[in-house]
Formats: sequence, structure tokens, C-alpha cells
Amino acid sequence: MKIQDIEAIALLLATPKKIVIIPHRSPDGDAMGSTLGLYHFLLKYNHEAVVIAPNEFPDFLAWLPGSETVKIFEKDKENCTKILQEADLIFTLDFNAFHRVGNEMEKVLTELKSTYIMIDHHQKPDDYAAYTYSDTGFGSTCEMLYNFINFLDKKNAIDKTIGTCIYTGILTDSGSFRFPGTTGNTHRIVAELIDLGVENTKIPNLLFENSSYQRLQLLGRALQNMKVLAHHNTSYTTLTQEELNSFEYVKGDTEGIVNYGLSIKGIVFTAIFIENTDEKIIKISFRSQGDFDVNQFARDHFNGGGHRNAAGGRSEVSMEETIVKFENLVAQLTI
Ligand code: 5GP
Ligand code: MN
Repeated sequence: MKIQDIEAIALLLATPKKIVIIPHRSPDGDAMGSTLGLYHFLLKYNHEAVVIAPNEFPDFLAWLPGSETVKIFEKDKENCTKILQEADLIFTLDFNAFHRVGNEMEKVLTELKSTYIMIDHHQKPDDYAAYTYSDTGFGSTCEMLYNFINFLDKKNAIDKTIGTCIYTGILTDSGSFRFPGTTGNTHRIVAELIDLGVENTKIPNLLFENSSYQRLQLLGRALQNMKVLAHHNTSYTTLTQEELNSFEYVKGDTEGIVNYGLSIKGIVFTAIFIENTDEKIIKISFRSQGDFDVNQFARDHFNGGGHRNAAGGRSEVSMEETIVKFENLVAQLTI
């Protein structure tokens, strides 16, 4: 971040402000961890802060400190719009383009005259923010939030609560410290957070081992549906709405399933296609290992984006047509 930007932000934060903090739609551990971490930080300096999520966050994040204060735009549009209109400052965390909050909230954000601050690690940031801290070199927005607080010379404000939020985002977005982008610095930050009392041995259980029986059954179905395109070192799987319904799907149940596709020997590209009949789309997650750029693939063919090794997108045709399109595209790849 530029020194002038840090100074300008420090000046803005020197007096109490009305501040809204926004994660992307269908927020994950990094989006919720970073927004809530910043929320607790700002409260310490007497700001009137609130996190407004575009839609519900998954249950496995509901233990995060402060999650009970999060307002959900989709459930309370009028009130959330009012809070947004009255904000002096708006932080957008873990995303970099307004369309990532969904149509209606995007319209509200576009029309506001507020000062935006972006902290994010995705590629190709839009330029809506007065201050942009964007760096694709980081494995998580939470690690950037730690740096951001450090830039402001306020590292001492990081306590167990803020640390718990930051740890959660670092852990989830790094695939438990396995993905590229996990550095010595990542581990040094985590070491400091553990010294502050962050419960590093409990949090992974809360996040990953609180599964319902139905969720495990759904995972089983996804694994059975998996196809391997061996000539192209690619695998993919599907879950239809009917399958989701039959396993009493709740938000968050499909989180992480995509990664199993990469655990097959020799596979470097995988995808999961999840039907959503409410939104009339197939939501897609892509993952890769090594050089194959799934961000570019998602941008070029499935109206999406993300990072080189983890991206997402969508398709507005049927599951069958989407799979045909995907298989045809893969057939042309040399990976
Ligand atoms: P996931 O597959 O876990 O939903 O997302 C993987 C990564 O891709 C995340 O960093 C997420 O923000 C990004 N991503 C997921 N879906 C989309 C999308 O539809 N558009 C864009 N631009 N990025 C996405
Ligand atoms: Mn992230």
C-alpha cells in the first residue's frame, strides 16, 4: 500500500466514523474472518461499525465472534440500504468488483457517494475505491488485514478476538496452509496469533469437523458422480438440485468438496458443477495444481474469476449442456 494512502486512511480513522464492512456474496471463511476482524478492530477505536453481508453466511462460520451482529442485505434490504447511504466509509473485503455482491446490492453500492477502501487478493481489481490494497501474492485477505493493521501502526490492538477472525481466514483460504501463497510470513503471523490465545487446535474442528450426517452422504454422492478425463489430467463432478434436496442441503454443505478432485494421482484440473434452480444457474468451482490458470479459464468461458489455482464461475444453461461445453473445452486444452 502506498504510504500516502496509509496516512490518508489513518487520518480518516482518527475520529469516530460510521463504517460499513462488506464481504462478497456467499461469504467464505476469509470473507467473514476479514470483515469481522476489521469490525472488532474498528470498535476499539470508537467507530460505529457494522458488517453487511449480501446474503446468508454458512452455519460453520456462525461461531465467529461478532457473527450474530452481521446484517444480511438480502433479508433486510431497506434497513441495510439506509445504513449504507449514511456511511462515511465503506470497506469491501475479499472481493474487488461490485458485481460480486449480487445485482440489487451492486446497484445500491454503485449509486453511493461514499469513500470506499478495498482490501483484496483477487486478480484485476475494479477502480471504485479511493484506497485500494490489492495484491494477488497473498493467500488470504485476512493476512492482508493483519498487514493493514500493522501499516496503521496498530498491531498492538490485535487481541484474541481479532486474531481468531484473522486465523480463520488464513486457515480456510490456504487450504490449511497447503496452497501456494502460504509463506514463512503467513506462519509467522499465525504464530503471533497463537501467542495471543487463538485456539489453533479447536478452530479447525469447528470449521471442518462439525459435519452433519447428511453432508457426509452428499459428499459421498459427489465423489461417486466424479468423472476423470485422464488424457487431460482433469476430473469433475456434479450435484443436481434434486441430489442436494435429497440430502437436505444447507448452505455450506458443498464447501470444500471440489478439492477432492485434485487428490487423484495425476489430476491437475478439477471442477464441481452445482445446480441452483432458484437462481437458474449452475454454480461452478474450479481448482488446479501448478501452472494451469483457472482464473483465466473461468473468465474466458464461465463468466467468473478468482485466482490462478482457485476460481469460480456460472453457467446459465442446463447441467447437461454445461458439461458438454466443459468437456469440449477440456478436450482442447493441453495440460
Ligand atoms: P469458490 O470456488 O470457493 O466459490 O471460489 C474460489 C475463488 O474464486 C474465490 O476466491 C472466489 O472469490 C472466486 N470466485 C468464485 N466464484 C466467482 C465468480 O462467479 N466470479 C468471480 N469473479 N470470482 C469467483
Ligand atoms: Mn479470500
